[in-house]
Amino acid sequence: MNVLVTGGAGFIGANLCQEFASRPNVGRVIALDDLSTGSAANLAGTDTELVEGSILDPTLVDSVVPRVDAVVHLAARPSVPRSLADPVASHHVNATGTVNVLEACRRAGVPVVAASSSSVYGATAVLPKHENLATRPLSPYAASKLATEAYVLAYGASFGLPTLAFRFFNVYGPLQPAGHAYAAVVPAFIDAMLRGTPVRIFGDGLQTRDFTYVGTVVRVLADAVLRQVSYAGPVNLAFGTRVTLLDLARELSDITGLPAGIRHEAPRAGDVRDSQAADGLVRELFPDIVQVPLEQGLERTVNWF
Ligand code: NAD
Repeated sequence: MNVLVTGGAGFIGANLCQEFASRPNVGRVIALDDLSTGSAANLAGTDTELVEGSILDPTLVDSVVPRVDAVVHLAARPSVPRSLADPVASHHVNATGTVNVLEACRRAGVPVVAASSSSVYGATAVLPKHENLATRPLSPYAASKLATEAYVLAYGASFGLPTLAFRFFNVYGPLQPAGHAYAAVVPAFIDAMLRGTPVRIFGDGLQTRDFTYVGTVVRVLADAVLRQVSYAGPVNLAFGTRVTLLDLARELSDITGLPAGIRHEAPRAGDVRDSQAADGLVRELFPDIVQVPLEQGLERTVNWF
């Protein structure tokens, strides 16, 4: 089986290309990436063909998709604060770019597994968040990811295209970059501790997140492709590991042996308060998946830094 990973040079994408490289049933792996937040260096040693370009270029997408048997669509303009700074850019890539990918898949008859986000639950306060809850996006990013998954599922319903839309929660692990304004919380905390600068927490630190190690996420994605799993509704890809940001900082401080030195700043617009996945559906669809526990995943991440 030959596979295309859009956003394949990014954090989750490059980990997925590594996972595919270890699977005997996978032949050619192509990463289509404009390298806006990803990097060619992430693909070192994976034998992945990098096609440098944008999912906003339909001709390019149309030329690549017929070369594969499945697409994993991860390309996106990630991050809530980035979308607050430029909502239109997030919309273009996450909504219009997704339609371009789906159009190419429809024409070539190629199934799609795609990344949505837990941010779509937004202001819905019920915990754990199960897939049938109402979606109430709090940021342009969340709205654009809701568009991503809505288009993916609509292409399944309208054209009979096999599709699977995962809602990722907080994914962390090796290759997730720190040291830039939009860094995710785990690399941002580790980087601050290693540099001896304060760990910045927006708000009281009692907000909660559901963290999933990237190795677990890419195993589920690869299984979805190889077993050709499709589903008519969104599927949470997280396992209910809910911790406060203060506890996360303490855990990382224990692992690194360095002080956390927390500095509280004003809460950020668009951030949700609490997050925890209901994992019944993902466990039903992927019964063999074993989750890497948080402490072990954080240790591997610190060791990668
Ligand atoms: P990332 O920024 O590392 O990966 C995104 C990749 O897409 C990058 O390599 C980037 O260069 C590429 N890209 C951006 N615009 C593009 C375009 N127009 N054409 C082609 N490539 C383009 O982020 P990630 O964390 O690996 O996220 C992967 C996917 O998972 C995204 O769809 C994101 O919305 C989703 N997601 C991630 C998390 C998380 O915790 N990391 C949580 C929820 C959802």
